[in-house]
Amino acid sequence: MKKNLFSKLISVSRRRSPWVYRVNAGSCNGCDIEVAPCFSPRYDGEQVGALLQGSPKHADILLISGPITLRTKAMVKDIYEQIPSPKAVVAIGSCPASGNVFSGSPTIVGSAEAIIPVDLYVPGCPPRPQEILDAIQKAAIMLENGETRSQKEDSND
Ligand code: SF4
Repeated sequence: MKKNLFSKLISVSRRRSPWVYRVNAGSCNGCDIEVAPCFSPRYDGEQVGALLQGSPKHADILLISGPITLRTKAMVKDIYEQIPSPKAVVAIGSCPASGNVFSGSPTIVGSAEAIIPVDLYVPGCPPRPQEILDAIQKAAIMLENGETRSQKEDSND
């Protein structure tokens, strides 16, 4: 009973204060420029509890921008694995969804999905900060409800 209550408390806390780590997997920086204001006074992600973290080990949600390149492939997987479970992945912009304008390049591995399980996509080239913040909140709700792909994989083990 105590464990259930504690787990519930952790779950609610995670929804109210999702910690976020951002990785650029090979983007043109356009999407990263839109992520930055999410945590500035103008859009103020902290009002919904979202905090940008300097280490993946402290994060609940991974934001990934850009297509996966040969050079970043191993790094992206390593960062994903460093984030403790439960965790969510939000792909920012068209590049991690499809490769976008970089498709066909010999240095591009493909979409983020080829490397890590993605929970939410934010379309656009680049998307607006409001849409990115909205996705962070949706990812936090998915975490609370145990709906992220990593949570589902963990429960199947
Ligand atoms: S989606 Fe557009 S803005 Fe974002 S990294 Fe790709 S090319 Fe750049």
